[in-house]
Amino acid sequence: PNTQYELLRRRIFSNTKEFWYFIHSGLLELQKRVQEATPDVSDHIQYMLNLGAEHKRSLLHDVDQLAEVDGYATWREKESNDLSELVQKRFRYLQNPADCKTAKKLICSLNKGCGYGCQLHHAVYCFMVAYGTKRTLILKSRGWRYHKAGWEEIFQPISDTCRDPSGESTSNWPGSADTQVLNLPIIDSLSPRPPFLPLAIPEDLAPRLTRLHGDPIVWWVGQILKYLLRPQPKTAAAIQETMTRMGFKRPIVGVHVRRTDKVGTEAAYHGIEEYMAAVEDYYKQLELKETIDKRRIYLATDDPKVILDAKNKYPQYEVIGDPSISKTAGISTRYSDSSLFGIINDIHMLSMSDYVVCTFSSQVCRVAYELMQNYFPDASARFRSLDDIYYYGGQNAHNTIAVLPHDPKKPGEMSVIAGDLIGVAGNHWNGFSKGRNLRTNQIALYPSFKVNDKIETAKFPTYAEVNK
Ligand code: GDP
Repeated sequence: PNTQYELLRRRIFSNTKEFWYFIHSGLLELQKRVQEATPDVSDHIQYMLNLGAEHKRSLLHDVDQLAEVDGYATWREKESNDLSELVQKRFRYLQNPADCKTAKKLICSLNKGCGYGCQLHHAVYCFMVAYGTKRTLILKSRGWRYHKAGWEEIFQPISDTCRDPSGESTSNWPGSADTQVLNLPIIDSLSPRPPFLPLAIPEDLAPRLTRLHGDPIVWWVGQILKYLLRPQPKTAAAIQETMTRMGFKRPIVGVHVRRTDKVGTEAAYHGIEEYMAAVEDYYKQLELKETIDKRRIYLATDDPKVILDAKNKYPQYEVIGDPSISKTAGISTRYSDSSLFGIINDIHMLSMSDYVVCTFSSQVCRVAYELMQNYFPDASARFRSLDDIYYYGGQNAHNTIAVLPHDPKKPGEMSVIAGDLIGVAGNHWNGFSKGRNLRTNQIALYPSFKVNDKIETAKFPTYAEVNK
């Protein structure tokens, strides 16, 4: 297919959602205002909300079907496999130098003081810089808070031939081109910043990725996670055992509810009803395509009460989620090795789901969404976040390009001309996003459908020697 066709197809899909966010939130606002005074108006609004949602699902379903009947489904499948094979081959090459004694190395310590998802993202960032500088990544993980004996007991070593961190010369980042061993700090204190950081993808892959995938950076992160998280046989067996025991079966929606230490500090509280409304919407749309035996969710959470609550409130759903596994009561144990298998299992099940509903403010859910990209040619639209849009901690500005002009109609709206670059801060899920217009410096709201994402690229090495 030509790239323009793929971009348009995805744009129609996402702007159908944006259209409905706009109408839906407008109708809710009206309903709030008229409620008691005029019950007949309120009834009519409710009627429009219901039938409007049906309209939206039918449109989304049709666009989805288009990708199944346009004749390119096989191509997408193959292109996705080819691209994955290509980068995985490059990763193996980078990580297995012929002579470890002379190889250029980058050292990454898995000691960032944060949760499991955050630490995975730390390792992915290290890998990006290793790939960008053509240095073999050495992961130092002895004493890791999630498994004292180290990463290699849980996941396969990231190199078969080169795990020795020593060398002729060692320095802290950035060192120089001929420093053999470089220590990389965490992304938050990285200086100077190389061009290889998110949201940049390798320039040589950009044309193919832009055509194949709705959010290439998520694909790129997913590929690195795929390499890093190759499980040891014991880990794979434990995951398999959990899936069987819990009766994990598709179709299934992965729901991640992040509470405890996050709520009120880094994220707002969202009731289970909010998550379940998104789940129901997903199933109603899926039912346009196939008969569903049972509406099933996999419920992952750091607060076991949520699982009991969901089981009570939604008896018509099969709620898979074990309130007793892993979920350790205190914060101190949450960030330690007793909780490792719980979080590994939860992330795995979420990523194996057909759709995830969560808060992207949580790294747990972002990791699951990134990994999900490994199971579909393009899973970029298979999520509903109740708060943030996708981001990568420490990323460079997320810019979008206006394709339509906007004349402000209400206070707080942005003035836009086509071609403007707008740095996006967030989507308000009501048809508007907030951002900063880089031409005018105005920080304001603009209709989300009037922009397209700007795909950032960087000149990573192209690994021509392994591209056969
Ligand atoms: P964030 O704080 O949500 O952005 O994600 P982090 O992964 O950095 O830290 C949260 C930690 O809380 C995780 O690493 C887990 O240890 C724990 N946690 C959060 N959500 C879940 C969950 O759904 N299941 C399990 N088992 N643990 C969770």
